[in-house]
Amino acid sequence: MSGEDDHLNIAIVGSGICGMCSAMALARQGHTVSVYDRDPAPPDGDADAAFFNWQRRGAAQFRHPHAFLGLLCNIIEENYPDLLEAFYAAGARRVDFAEMLSAELRAAYVAEPGDAKLWVLMCRRATMETVFRRYVESMANVSIHNGVRVTGMCTQVDSQGTLDVTGITIEQAGRTSERTADIVVDASGRLSKFPGWFAALDRTVHEEKDDAEIVYYTRHYRLQPGCEEPPRGERPGAGDLGYLKFGVFPGDNGTFAIILCLPVAERLLQRAVRAGATFDQICLSIPGLEPWLVDNRSSPTTEPFGIADIQSVWRHYVTAGEPLARNFFAVGDAALRTNPLYGRGCSTGILHAHILADVIAESRDPVSRAHRFDERTEKELRPIFSASLREDRNGIARSAAVLEGRTLDKPDGLKKWFRLAFGDALGAASREQLHVLRGAMKSFHLLENPGAFLKDPKIRRTVLRYMLKGRRRNSAKRLQPGPGRAEMHDLLGLSADAAVSPDESEIVNPA
Ligand SMILES: Cc1cc2nc3c(=O)[nH]c(=O)nc-3n(C[C@H](O)[C@H](O)[C@H](O)COP(=O)(O)OP(=O)(O)OC[C@H]3O[C@@H](n4cnc5c(N)ncnc54)[C@H](O)[C@@H]3O)c2cc1C
Repeated sequence: MSGEDDHLNIAIVGSGICGMCSAMALARQGHTVSVYDRDPAPPDGDADAAFFNWQRRGAAQFRHPHAFLGLLCNIIEENYPDLLEAFYAAGARRVDFAEMLSAELRAAYVAEPGDAKLWVLMCRRATMETVFRRYVESMANVSIHNGVRVTGMCTQVDSQGTLDVTGITIEQAGRTSERTADIVVDASGRLSKFPGWFAALDRTVHEEKDDAEIVYYTRHYRLQPGCEEPPRGERPGAGDLGYLKFGVFPGDNGTFAIILCLPVAERLLQRAVRAGATFDQICLSIPGLEPWLVDNRSSPTTEPFGIADIQSVWRHYVTAGEPLARNFFAVGDAALRTNPLYGRGCSTGILHAHILADVIAESRDPVSRAHRFDERTEKELRPIFSASLREDRNGIARSAAVLEGRTLDKPDGLKKWFRLAFGDALGAASREQLHVLRGAMKSFHLLENPGAFLKDPKIRRTVLRYMLKGRRRNSAKRLQPGPGRAEMHDLLGLSADAAVSPDESEIVNPA
């Protein structure tokens, strides 16, 4: 592209992770980018100041721990090497594939070229967001406006009925005004108001929506002075006990967080887990979490808090081959989101932001931009979304079986038996065979379509060899060490007869 039209005036609604990633990707193409967010700017100071003091009512997940997978890390490393340095300076850590291996696999480890892409960045989301923010605000052609609530869209309809988005309306300190823009980007997250604003104009944003049927609880901790994190790779710090999923998220500057995730039907445990002492008691009973808390290795820095309404959502802005509006794009959670348990949202979000920047650079025609954005979103993000949905459905079936005291290990039908046997063999092989784990990690880090590694003939042969070893052996490797459901209820003194009132089942989520 050349000429004056190349230089666009772009309004981004939301300065969360995807708002910042979109601003970075668009600003480096020379566009003028204005970002609007209802929340205040991050406070001055270090990572702790951002975590404890930043008021982030607009992003309910702000204080829940986040994993930053290979997809996100590699996009940053390849496109913004100086940003990566800023993450390290703020206390974020790079953890490579080799560092995550069990002692047995580490002993046999020989590096391969692709391993350099299998890494995670470990830090709190507050740290991640602050570093993104500081980087973006230092770009000459970006302005970020905080304390500004976007209250609507400015639009025009031509004689053919085509809708053009021409700007936004904003409210700041009680005053309403308009901001015109060549392109409006909705990066306002899971509670985006744009679908409602389109509905008011008689344009329907079609939505696919599935409930993950879980409630997610977090507690943050700090290692005591002189204490180290437990060694990696010995006991899995994440797993599924059937009625409870758990995970530890090492953070920056000596911090870490633990999540406990419960099915919505586990009311008694949900109520219990909100008390700090019970949360810790549960963690101490799970071998993968115990080393993080035992012997006063750490102390909590927050009470437990939760978040509910965990859904997978995909919003369609092109239906029946027609864009809903011209010069409007939704990115990140505003467009699609998956269960946070898989830690994929920020990775799919930064990819989405870069897809947007690509399509804006490729064509000047607003309709072909809308089509191209839709096509690439379907091609590159749909496989991740579909895999997450399948994992959710399996998880819902597993926890329902545990709750009802049924076993899923004795399937009715050959197809189901084969699926289970294959899954167990794959799980066992990826614990014991480096090449299988490497393949599985490419999927985990979203560096290829989920499950693509299973097309590798060597991996297939290994998994089939494991199937021949027998299901009993393989499924024993799948089971996570930890108390069963009845044992956990006993341990916590929970009575199955205790009633839970609707009020008590509400979720506390600090701003
Ligand atoms: C509990 C939980 C845990 C998660 N864990 C992970 C993880 O481990 N790894 C991972 O990659 N992802 C994780 N995610 C997903 C991740 O948080 C999201 O995918 C990501 O934050 C999406 O970024 P976003 O910019 O689209 O939205 P958000 O980060 O939610 O930002 C939206 C922004 O828009 C602003 N805004 C909203 N409405 C308006 C308005 N009208 N006017 C002005 N501003 C507005 C808000 O203030 C906010 O700043 C998790 C999500 C949850 C719920």
